Amino acid sequence: MNLADRLHTAARRLGGRAVLTLDGAELTYGTLEELSARLAGLLLARGIRAGDRVAIMLPNVPEFGVVYYGVLRIGAVVVPLDPLLKRREIAAYLGDCGARLLIAWHAFAETAEAGSGSTNADVFFVVPEEFRRLLRGVAAEHEIASMADGDTAVIHYTSGTTGRPKGIELTHANLTGNAAAVARMHALGVDDVVLGALPLYHTFGQTCSLNATVQAGARLTLLRRFEAGRALEVIRRDGVTVFQGVPTMFIALLDHPGASDMSMLRVCVSGGAALPLDVLRAYETRLGCAIVEGYGLSETSPVTAANRGGQHRRPGSIGWPIRGVEMRVVGEDGRDVPCGTIGEIVVRGPNVMKGYWNDPAGTAEAIRDGWFHTGDLGRKDEDGFFFLMDRRRDVIIRGGYTVYPREVEEVLYEHPAVRQAAVLGVPHPELGEEIEAVVALRAPVTCADLRDFVKERVAAYKYPRHISFVDELPMSPTGKILKRALARPAAVRAGRS
Ligand code: AMP
Repeated sequence: MNLADRLHTAARRLGGRAVLTLDGAELTYGTLEELSARLAGLLLARGIRAGDRVAIMLPNVPEFGVVYYGVLRIGAVVVPLDPLLKRREIAAYLGDCGARLLIAWHAFAETAEAGSGSTNADVFFVVPEEFRRLLRGVAAEHEIASMADGDTAVIHYTSGTTGRPKGIELTHANLTGNAAAVARMHALGVDDVVLGALPLYHTFGQTCSLNATVQAGARLTLLRRFEAGRALEVIRRDGVTVFQGVPTMFIALLDHPGASDMSMLRVCVSGGAALPLDVLRAYETRLGCAIVEGYGLSETSPVTAANRGGQHRRPGSIGWPIRGVEMRVVGEDGRDVPCGTIGEIVVRGPNVMKGYWNDPAGTAEAIRDGWFHTGDLGRKDEDGFFFLMDRRRDVIIRGGYTVYPREVEEVLYEHPAVRQAAVLGVPHPELGEEIEAVVALRAPVTCADLRDFVKERVAAYKYPRHISFVDELPMSPTGKILKRALARPAAVRAGRS
Protein backbone atom coordinates (compact mmCIF):
# COMPACT_ATOMS: atom_id res chain seq x y z
CA MET A 1 0.00 0.00 0.00
CA ASN A 2 1.22 3.46 -0.80
CA LEU A 3 0.79 6.59 1.29
CA ALA A 4 -2.31 7.80 -0.58
CA ASP A 5 -3.96 4.38 -0.10
CA ARG A 6 -3.35 4.67 3.62
CA LEU A 7 -5.23 7.95 3.74
CA HIS A 8 -8.02 6.46 1.64
CA THR A 9 -8.40 3.50 4.01
CA ALA A 10 -8.47 5.79 7.04
CA ALA A 11 -11.02 8.09 5.37
CA ARG A 12 -13.38 5.18 4.67
CA ARG A 13 -13.21 4.15 8.29
CA LEU A 14 -13.15 7.53 9.99
CA GLY A 15 -14.59 9.99 7.45
CA GLY A 16 -16.12 12.45 9.91
CA ARG A 17 -13.32 12.51 12.45
CA ALA A 18 -10.81 15.33 12.64
CA VAL A 19 -7.34 14.54 11.33
CA LEU A 20 -5.61 17.92 11.04
CA THR A 21 -6.41 20.90 13.18
CA LEU A 22 -4.84 24.29 13.62
CA ASP A 23 -6.50 26.57 16.12
CA GLY A 24 -10.02 27.06 14.72
CA ALA A 25 -9.46 25.29 11.40
CA GLU A 26 -10.18 21.59 11.10
CA LEU A 27 -9.96 18.97 8.38
CA THR A 28 -11.71 15.66 8.78
CA TYR A 29 -10.36 12.46 7.25
CA GLY A 30 -13.13 12.65 4.65
CA THR A 31 -12.35 16.27 3.71
CA LEU A 32 -8.62 15.65 3.58
CA GLU A 33 -9.21 12.75 1.19
CA GLU A 34 -11.65 14.75 -0.92
CA LEU A 35 -9.51 17.88 -1.18
CA SER A 36 -6.38 15.89 -1.95
CA ALA A 37 -8.30 14.09 -4.72
CA ARG A 38 -9.26 17.48 -6.13
CA LEU A 39 -5.69 18.69 -5.91
CA ALA A 40 -4.69 15.54 -7.78
CA GLY A 41 -7.23 16.51 -10.46
CA LEU A 42 -5.74 19.98 -10.64
CA LEU A 43 -2.23 18.59 -11.07
CA LEU A 44 -3.32 16.23 -13.85
CA ALA A 45 -5.05 19.12 -15.60
CA ARG A 46 -1.76 21.02 -15.47
CA GLY A 47 0.03 18.13 -17.14
CA ILE A 48 1.79 16.73 -14.07
CA ARG A 49 2.19 12.96 -14.30
CA ALA A 50 3.41 10.04 -12.19
CA GLY A 51 7.11 10.32 -11.46
CA ASP A 52 7.21 14.12 -11.94
CA ARG A 53 8.72 16.05 -9.06
CA VAL A 54 6.53 18.59 -7.30
CA ALA A 55 8.26 20.75 -4.70
CA ILE A 56 6.21 22.02 -1.79
CA MET A 57 7.07 24.88 0.50
CA LEU A 58 4.41 25.05 3.18
CA PRO A 59 4.40 25.73 6.91
CA ASN A 60 2.58 23.50 9.41
CA VAL A 61 -0.93 24.14 8.16
CA PRO A 62 -3.72 21.67 7.26
CA GLU A 63 -3.15 22.53 3.58
CA PHE A 64 0.21 20.74 3.88
CA GLY A 65 -1.71 17.46 4.14
CA VAL A 66 -3.95 18.29 1.17
CA VAL A 67 -1.00 19.06 -1.08
CA TYR A 68 1.18 16.20 0.18
CA TYR A 69 -1.42 13.47 -0.32
CA GLY A 70 -2.69 15.10 -3.53
CA VAL A 71 0.74 14.92 -5.17
CA LEU A 72 1.25 11.35 -3.99
CA ARG A 73 -2.20 10.32 -5.22
CA ILE A 74 -1.16 10.67 -8.87
CA GLY A 75 2.16 8.94 -8.28
CA ALA A 76 4.17 12.16 -8.47
CA VAL A 77 7.09 12.75 -6.12
CA VAL A 78 6.90 15.27 -3.26
CA VAL A 79 9.99 17.41 -2.71
CA PRO A 80 9.40 19.17 0.64
CA LEU A 81 11.38 22.35 1.07
CA ASP A 82 12.14 24.21 4.27
CA PRO A 83 10.14 27.45 4.08
CA LEU A 84 13.13 29.33 5.44
CA LEU A 85 15.33 28.48 2.47
CA LYS A 86 16.86 31.34 0.59
CA ARG A 87 16.54 31.98 -3.14
CA ARG A 88 19.80 30.27 -4.07
CA GLU A 89 19.01 27.13 -2.12
CA ILE A 90 15.55 26.87 -3.64
CA ALA A 91 17.00 27.26 -7.13
CA ALA A 92 19.63 24.59 -6.44
CA TYR A 93 17.10 22.04 -5.15
CA LEU A 94 14.49 22.69 -7.85
CA GLY A 95 17.18 22.47 -10.52
CA ASP A 96 18.73 19.32 -9.08
CA CYS A 97 15.49 17.33 -9.02
CA GLY A 98 14.11 18.91 -12.19
CA ALA A 99 10.89 19.95 -10.43
CA ARG A 100 7.92 20.66 -12.73
CA LEU A 101 6.04 22.67 -10.16
CA LEU A 102 6.60 24.46 -6.86
CA ILE A 103 3.55 24.72 -4.61
CA ALA A 104 4.27 27.47 -2.09
CA TRP A 105 2.44 29.16 0.76
CA HIS A 106 1.42 32.69 -0.20
CA ALA A 107 3.59 34.25 2.50
CA PHE A 108 6.73 32.82 0.87
CA ALA A 109 5.80 34.25 -2.56
CA GLU A 110 8.84 36.45 -2.87
CA THR A 111 11.52 33.81 -2.25
CA ALA A 112 9.54 31.13 -4.09
CA GLU A 113 9.26 33.34 -7.20
CA ALA A 114 12.89 34.39 -7.02
CA GLY A 115 14.15 30.84 -6.38
CA SER A 116 12.18 29.23 -9.17
CA GLY A 117 12.87 32.01 -11.67
CA SER A 118 15.94 30.42 -13.20
CA THR A 119 14.46 26.88 -13.22
CA ASN A 120 11.82 25.03 -15.25
CA ALA A 121 9.40 24.89 -12.34
CA ASP A 122 6.07 26.75 -12.48
CA VAL A 123 4.86 28.21 -9.21
CA PHE A 124 1.45 27.76 -7.63
CA PHE A 125 0.57 29.71 -4.52
CA VAL A 126 -1.64 28.44 -1.75
CA VAL A 127 -3.75 31.27 -0.37
CA PRO A 128 -5.84 29.76 2.44
CA GLU A 129 -9.20 31.44 1.77
CA GLU A 130 -9.00 30.91 -1.99
CA PHE A 131 -7.47 27.45 -1.92
CA ARG A 132 -10.58 25.52 -0.90
CA ARG A 133 -12.78 27.58 -3.21
CA LEU A 134 -10.47 26.86 -6.11
CA LEU A 135 -10.35 23.15 -5.34
CA ARG A 136 -14.13 22.91 -5.07
CA GLY A 137 -14.27 23.93 -8.72
CA VAL A 138 -11.90 21.15 -9.83
CA ALA A 139 -12.98 17.62 -10.70
CA ALA A 140 -11.60 15.15 -8.17
CA GLU A 141 -9.28 12.39 -9.33
CA HIS A 142 -10.95 9.33 -7.86
CA GLU A 143 -8.31 6.82 -8.87
CA ILE A 144 -5.19 6.46 -6.79
CA ALA A 145 -2.28 5.78 -9.14
CA SER A 146 -0.98 2.27 -8.73
CA MET A 147 2.53 2.41 -7.39
CA ALA A 148 5.10 -0.22 -6.63
CA ASP A 149 6.69 -0.37 -3.19
CA GLY A 150 9.99 0.73 -4.66
CA ASP A 151 8.57 3.83 -6.35
CA THR A 152 9.89 7.07 -4.98
CA ALA A 153 7.39 9.01 -2.88
CA VAL A 154 9.50 11.83 -1.48
CA ILE A 155 12.89 13.42 -2.11
CA HIS A 156 14.28 15.18 0.95
CA TYR A 157 17.16 17.57 0.58
CA THR A 158 19.54 17.37 3.51
CA SER A 159 19.92 20.45 5.60
CA GLY A 160 23.03 22.46 6.00
CA THR A 161 25.14 20.87 3.30
CA THR A 162 27.48 22.80 1.10
CA GLY A 163 28.42 21.87 -2.44
CA ARG A 164 26.15 19.62 -4.46
CA PRO A 165 22.68 19.22 -3.02
CA LYS A 166 21.92 15.73 -1.78
CA GLY A 167 18.40 14.53 -2.51
CA ILE A 168 17.39 11.56 -0.38
CA GLU A 169 14.97 9.32 -2.28
CA LEU A 170 12.47 7.62 0.00
CA THR A 171 10.00 5.11 -1.38
CA HIS A 172 6.38 4.43 -0.51
CA ALA A 173 7.50 1.24 1.23
CA ASN A 174 10.14 3.15 3.24
CA LEU A 175 7.62 5.68 4.46
CA THR A 176 4.52 3.57 5.05
CA GLY A 177 6.66 0.96 6.81
CA ASN A 178 8.34 3.48 9.09
CA ALA A 179 5.11 5.29 9.96
CA ALA A 180 3.42 1.95 10.72
CA ALA A 181 6.33 0.92 12.94
CA VAL A 182 6.10 4.20 14.86
CA ALA A 183 2.32 3.91 15.25
CA ARG A 184 2.66 0.33 16.47
CA MET A 185 5.55 1.06 18.82
CA HIS A 186 3.60 3.80 20.60
CA ALA A 187 0.26 2.01 20.29
CA LEU A 188 -1.24 5.08 18.61
CA GLY A 189 -4.99 4.89 18.22
CA VAL A 190 -8.06 6.89 17.26
CA ASP A 191 -8.25 8.56 20.65
CA ASP A 192 -4.74 9.96 20.49
CA VAL A 193 -4.08 13.62 19.87
CA VAL A 194 -0.59 14.20 18.48
CA LEU A 195 1.11 17.57 18.82
CA GLY A 196 2.37 18.76 15.44
CA ALA A 197 5.31 20.73 16.77
CA LEU A 198 7.95 19.35 14.41
CA PRO A 199 8.14 20.91 10.96
CA LEU A 200 6.25 18.74 8.49
CA TYR A 201 8.74 19.33 5.70
CA HIS A 202 11.32 17.33 7.68
CA THR A 203 11.22 13.50 7.79
CA PHE A 204 10.83 13.43 11.57
CA GLY A 205 7.59 15.44 11.48
CA GLN A 206 6.37 13.90 8.25
CA THR A 207 6.69 10.26 9.28
CA CYS A 208 6.19 10.42 13.03
CA SER A 209 3.56 13.13 13.19
CA LEU A 210 1.68 13.25 9.86
CA ASN A 211 1.90 9.74 8.40
CA ALA A 212 1.80 7.89 11.72
CA THR A 213 -1.28 9.92 12.74
CA VAL A 214 -3.08 9.02 9.51
CA GLN A 215 -2.19 5.35 9.79
CA ALA A 216 -3.47 5.23 13.35
CA GLY A 217 -6.61 7.26 12.69
CA ALA A 218 -5.49 9.76 15.34
CA ARG A 219 -5.64 13.56 15.23
CA LEU A 220 -2.74 15.93 14.65
CA THR A 221 -3.01 19.35 16.22
CA LEU A 222 -0.59 21.65 14.46
CA LEU A 223 1.58 24.45 15.71
CA ARG A 224 2.56 26.93 12.99
CA ARG A 225 5.92 27.25 14.68
CA PHE A 226 7.15 26.03 18.02
CA GLU A 227 6.85 28.44 20.89
CA ALA A 228 6.82 27.03 24.41
CA GLY A 229 3.91 29.06 25.83
CA ARG A 230 1.75 28.32 22.81
CA ALA A 231 2.66 24.62 22.91
CA LEU A 232 1.59 24.40 26.56
CA GLU A 233 -1.71 26.08 25.73
CA VAL A 234 -2.43 23.67 22.87
CA ILE A 235 -1.39 20.61 24.89
CA ARG A 236 -3.94 21.54 27.54
CA ARG A 237 -6.65 22.86 25.23
CA ASP A 238 -6.66 19.86 22.89
CA GLY A 239 -5.84 17.14 25.39
CA VAL A 240 -2.62 16.18 23.62
CA THR A 241 -1.47 12.65 24.42
CA VAL A 242 1.58 12.33 22.16
CA PHE A 243 4.44 14.78 21.90
CA GLN A 244 7.35 14.11 19.59
CA GLY A 245 9.98 16.81 19.63
CA VAL A 246 13.62 17.75 19.51
CA PRO A 247 15.61 18.49 22.68
CA THR A 248 15.39 22.28 22.21
CA MET A 249 11.61 22.01 22.45
CA PHE A 250 11.77 19.94 25.63
CA ILE A 251 14.26 22.40 27.13
CA ALA A 252 12.14 25.42 26.20
CA LEU A 253 9.03 23.84 27.77
CA LEU A 254 10.90 23.02 30.94
CA ASP A 255 12.16 26.59 31.24
CA HIS A 256 8.72 28.08 30.69
CA PRO A 257 7.10 29.53 33.85
CA GLY A 258 3.78 27.91 32.89
CA ALA A 259 5.20 24.38 32.84
CA SER A 260 3.53 22.13 35.39
CA ASP A 261 2.16 18.62 35.52
CA MET A 262 2.34 17.00 32.07
CA SER A 263 1.33 13.50 33.04
CA MET A 264 -1.44 13.62 30.40
CA LEU A 265 1.26 13.05 27.80
CA ARG A 266 1.08 9.33 27.27
CA VAL A 267 4.00 9.29 24.84
CA CYS A 268 6.88 11.77 24.80
CA VAL A 269 9.63 11.12 22.26
CA SER A 270 12.82 13.09 21.74
CA GLY A 271 14.98 12.67 18.66
CA GLY A 272 17.06 14.52 16.10
CA ALA A 273 19.77 15.53 18.58
CA ALA A 274 21.09 14.39 21.94
CA LEU A 275 18.73 14.90 24.86
CA PRO A 276 20.68 16.08 27.91
CA LEU A 277 20.20 13.69 30.81
CA ASP A 278 19.26 16.39 33.29
CA VAL A 279 16.37 17.42 31.02
CA LEU A 280 15.10 13.86 30.92
CA ARG A 281 15.26 13.63 34.70
CA ALA A 282 13.61 17.01 35.26
CA TYR A 283 10.63 15.89 33.16
CA GLU A 284 10.22 12.90 35.38
CA THR A 285 10.63 14.61 38.72
CA ARG A 286 9.05 18.01 38.01
CA LEU A 287 6.52 17.33 35.25
CA GLY A 288 5.59 13.72 35.87
CA CYS A 289 6.22 12.52 32.35
CA ALA A 290 8.77 10.10 30.93
CA ILE A 291 10.61 11.01 27.75
CA VAL A 292 11.85 8.20 25.55
CA GLU A 293 14.71 8.95 23.19
CA GLY A 294 14.86 7.73 19.61
CA TYR A 295 17.33 7.99 16.77
CA GLY A 296 17.19 8.28 13.05
CA LEU A 297 18.24 10.12 9.93
CA SER A 298 16.44 11.42 6.89
CA GLU A 299 18.14 8.60 4.95
CA THR A 300 16.36 6.06 7.17
CA SER A 301 12.82 7.47 6.86
CA PRO A 302 13.84 8.46 9.68
CA VAL A 303 13.28 6.16 12.71
CA THR A 304 15.93 3.52 13.24
CA ALA A 305 16.14 2.95 16.98
CA ALA A 306 14.20 3.93 20.04
CA ASN A 307 13.79 3.32 23.71
CA ARG A 308 10.46 1.82 24.61
CA GLY A 309 8.31 2.82 27.55
CA GLY A 310 8.42 1.58 31.13
CA GLN A 311 11.28 -0.74 31.96
CA HIS A 312 12.47 -0.88 28.37
CA ARG A 313 14.33 2.34 28.54
CA ARG A 314 17.82 3.42 29.39
CA PRO A 315 18.38 7.15 29.95
CA GLY A 316 21.16 8.50 27.76
CA SER A 317 20.72 5.69 25.25
CA ILE A 318 18.98 5.79 21.87
CA GLY A 319 17.42 2.40 22.61
CA TRP A 320 17.57 -0.47 20.18
CA PRO A 321 16.47 -0.97 16.56
CA ILE A 322 12.80 -0.84 15.72
CA ARG A 323 11.12 -3.92 14.27
CA GLY A 324 12.62 -5.12 10.98
CA VAL A 325 15.70 -2.89 11.25
CA GLU A 326 19.23 -4.06 12.03
CA MET A 327 21.95 -1.89 13.48
CA ARG A 328 25.66 -2.63 14.04
CA VAL A 329 28.70 -0.77 15.27
CA VAL A 330 31.69 -1.21 12.95
CA GLY A 331 35.33 -0.19 12.85
CA GLU A 332 37.32 1.31 9.97
CA ASP A 333 37.61 -2.17 8.42
CA GLY A 334 33.83 -2.59 8.36
CA ARG A 335 33.85 -5.35 10.99
CA ASP A 336 31.84 -5.34 14.19
CA VAL A 337 33.68 -3.87 17.15
CA PRO A 338 33.28 -5.48 20.60
CA CYS A 339 30.51 -4.32 22.96
CA GLY A 340 31.40 -1.02 24.58
CA THR A 341 33.81 0.03 21.82
CA ILE A 342 33.01 3.11 19.78
CA GLY A 343 32.59 2.71 16.02
CA GLU A 344 30.37 3.86 13.18
CA ILE A 345 26.70 2.94 13.31
CA VAL A 346 25.47 1.14 10.18
CA VAL A 347 21.85 0.29 9.42
CA ARG A 348 20.03 -2.23 7.24
CA GLY A 349 16.29 -2.54 6.83
CA PRO A 350 13.14 -1.53 5.00
CA ASN A 351 13.58 2.06 6.17
CA VAL A 352 16.87 2.66 4.33
CA MET A 353 16.51 5.07 1.40
CA LYS A 354 16.59 3.99 -2.21
CA GLY A 355 19.60 6.25 -2.69
CA TYR A 356 20.67 9.80 -3.37
CA TRP A 357 18.86 11.31 -6.34
CA ASN A 358 20.92 11.12 -9.50
CA ASP A 359 24.04 10.33 -7.53
CA PRO A 360 25.08 6.69 -7.92
CA ALA A 361 28.57 7.37 -6.59
CA GLY A 362 27.24 9.06 -3.42
CA THR A 363 24.75 6.22 -2.97
CA ALA A 364 27.42 3.54 -3.38
CA GLU A 365 29.59 5.28 -0.80
CA ALA A 366 26.73 5.51 1.71
CA ILE A 367 25.23 2.04 1.21
CA ARG A 368 27.92 -0.65 1.18
CA ASP A 369 27.07 -4.35 1.12
CA GLY A 370 23.49 -3.43 1.88
CA TRP A 371 24.41 -1.45 5.01
CA PHE A 372 23.80 2.28 5.23
CA HIS A 373 26.75 4.06 6.84
CA THR A 374 25.32 6.78 9.07
CA GLY A 375 28.46 8.81 9.79
CA ASP A 376 27.41 8.70 13.46
CA LEU A 377 29.70 7.21 16.08
CA GLY A 378 28.31 5.16 18.90
CA ARG A 379 28.57 2.00 20.95
CA LYS A 380 26.39 -0.85 22.07
CA ASP A 381 26.20 -2.21 25.61
CA GLU A 382 25.89 -5.81 26.78
CA ASP A 383 22.09 -5.54 26.90
CA GLY A 384 21.80 -4.36 23.31
CA PHE A 385 21.18 -0.67 24.05
CA PHE A 386 22.92 1.71 21.67
CA PHE A 387 24.57 4.94 22.79
CA LEU A 388 25.32 7.72 20.35
CA MET A 389 28.44 9.80 20.62
CA ASP A 390 28.90 12.32 17.82
CA ARG A 391 28.91 12.78 14.10
CA ARG A 392 32.25 11.47 12.86
CA ARG A 393 33.18 14.88 11.50
CA ASP A 394 32.56 16.57 14.90
CA VAL A 395 35.03 14.44 16.83
CA ILE A 396 37.99 16.45 18.13
CA ILE A 397 41.57 15.19 18.09
CA ARG A 398 43.58 17.15 20.66
CA GLY A 399 47.27 16.35 20.74
CA GLY A 400 46.54 12.81 19.59
CA TYR A 401 43.72 12.27 22.09
CA THR A 402 40.19 11.74 20.86
CA VAL A 403 37.60 13.92 22.51
CA TYR A 404 33.89 13.34 21.97
CA PRO A 405 32.14 16.70 22.27
CA ARG A 406 28.98 15.01 23.50
CA GLU A 407 30.73 13.79 26.65
CA VAL A 408 31.95 17.28 27.54
CA GLU A 409 28.59 18.82 26.65
CA GLU A 410 26.83 16.44 29.04
CA VAL A 411 29.07 17.66 31.86
CA LEU A 412 28.37 21.29 30.99
CA TYR A 413 24.63 20.56 31.06
CA GLU A 414 25.02 19.25 34.61
CA HIS A 415 25.85 22.79 35.72
CA PRO A 416 22.61 24.48 36.79
CA ALA A 417 23.51 27.75 35.06
CA VAL A 418 23.87 26.15 31.62
CA ARG A 419 20.92 26.20 29.21
CA GLN A 420 22.64 25.20 25.95
CA ALA A 421 26.16 24.01 25.27
CA ALA A 422 28.26 23.14 22.25
CA VAL A 423 31.81 21.86 22.35
CA LEU A 424 34.00 22.13 19.30
CA GLY A 425 37.59 21.84 18.15
CA VAL A 426 39.39 24.98 17.04
CA PRO A 427 42.68 24.85 15.13
CA HIS A 428 45.79 24.93 17.34
CA PRO A 429 49.39 25.18 16.10
CA GLU A 430 50.85 22.47 18.37
CA LEU A 431 47.92 20.32 19.40
CA GLY A 432 46.16 20.25 16.05
CA GLU A 433 42.90 21.14 17.77
CA GLU A 434 41.98 22.75 21.07
CA ILE A 435 38.72 22.29 22.97
CA GLU A 436 36.36 25.20 23.05
CA ALA A 437 32.85 25.54 24.44
CA VAL A 438 30.12 27.96 23.49
CA VAL A 439 27.41 28.23 26.10
CA ALA A 440 24.06 29.96 26.59
CA LEU A 441 23.24 30.57 30.25
CA ARG A 442 20.08 30.60 32.33
CA ALA A 443 21.87 32.07 35.38
CA PRO A 444 25.14 33.96 35.81
CA VAL A 445 28.41 32.04 36.17
CA THR A 446 31.97 33.01 35.35
CA CYS A 447 33.98 31.43 32.64
CA ALA A 448 36.60 30.27 35.16
CA ASP A 449 34.01 28.64 37.45
CA LEU A 450 32.43 26.78 34.58
CA ARG A 451 35.79 25.63 33.28
CA ASP A 452 36.75 24.36 36.74
CA PHE A 453 33.42 22.56 37.04
CA VAL A 454 34.19 20.56 33.89
CA LYS A 455 37.88 20.17 34.76
CA GLU A 456 37.00 18.40 38.00
CA ARG A 457 34.84 15.89 36.17
CA VAL A 458 36.76 14.84 33.05
CA ALA A 459 40.30 13.87 32.04
CA ALA A 460 42.64 16.83 31.71
CA TYR A 461 42.79 16.75 27.91
CA LYS A 462 39.00 17.05 27.61
CA TYR A 463 37.98 20.19 29.43
CA PRO A 464 37.42 23.35 27.38
CA ARG A 465 40.29 25.83 27.47
CA HIS A 466 38.09 28.60 26.12
CA ILE A 467 34.46 29.18 26.95
CA SER A 468 32.42 31.89 25.30
CA PHE A 469 28.92 32.93 26.25
CA VAL A 470 26.17 33.71 23.76
CA ASP A 471 22.48 34.52 24.21
CA GLU A 472 21.34 31.68 21.95
CA LEU A 473 23.15 28.97 20.07
CA PRO A 474 22.39 28.83 16.35
CA MET A 475 19.90 26.03 15.92
CA SER A 476 18.33 24.30 12.93
CA PRO A 477 14.54 24.06 12.97
CA THR A 478 15.00 20.37 13.70
CA GLY A 479 16.87 21.05 16.90
CA LYS A 480 20.47 20.60 15.83
CA ILE A 481 23.07 23.01 17.10
CA LEU A 482 24.73 24.38 13.97
CA LYS A 483 28.32 23.73 14.94
CA ARG A 484 29.66 24.85 11.63
CA ALA A 485 28.11 28.26 12.11
CA LEU A 486 29.84 28.40 15.50
CA ALA A 487 33.14 27.52 13.93
CA ARG A 488 32.95 30.85 12.10
CA PRO A 489 33.53 33.12 15.09
CA ALA A 490 32.49 36.44 13.61
CA ALA A 491 29.12 35.10 12.54
CA VAL A 492 27.77 34.25 15.95
CA ARG A 493 30.13 35.01 18.72
CA ALA A 494 29.04 38.50 19.38
CA GLY A 495 28.64 37.52 23.04
CA ARG A 496 31.00 38.03 25.93
CA SER A 497 33.98 35.77 26.28
P1 AMP B 1 18.57 14.42 9.76
O1 AMP B 1 19.04 13.67 8.56
O2 AMP B 1 18.38 15.88 9.57
O3 AMP B 1 17.34 13.76 10.28
O4 AMP B 1 19.69 14.27 10.90
C1 AMP B 1 20.15 13.01 11.30
C2 AMP B 1 21.18 13.16 12.37
O5 AMP B 1 20.61 13.64 13.58
C3 AMP B 1 21.82 11.86 12.76
O6 AMP B 1 22.83 11.46 11.86
C4 AMP B 1 22.37 12.16 14.14
O7 AMP B 1 23.63 12.77 14.06
C5 AMP B 1 21.37 13.17 14.69
N1 AMP B 1 20.48 12.52 15.66
C6 AMP B 1 19.28 11.96 15.45
N2 AMP B 1 18.76 11.45 16.59
C7 AMP B 1 19.66 11.70 17.57
C8 AMP B 1 19.73 11.42 18.98
N3 AMP B 1 18.74 10.81 19.64
N4 AMP B 1 20.84 11.81 19.64
C9 AMP B 1 21.86 12.45 19.01
N5 AMP B 1 21.84 12.74 17.69
C10 AMP B 1 20.76 12.38 16.97
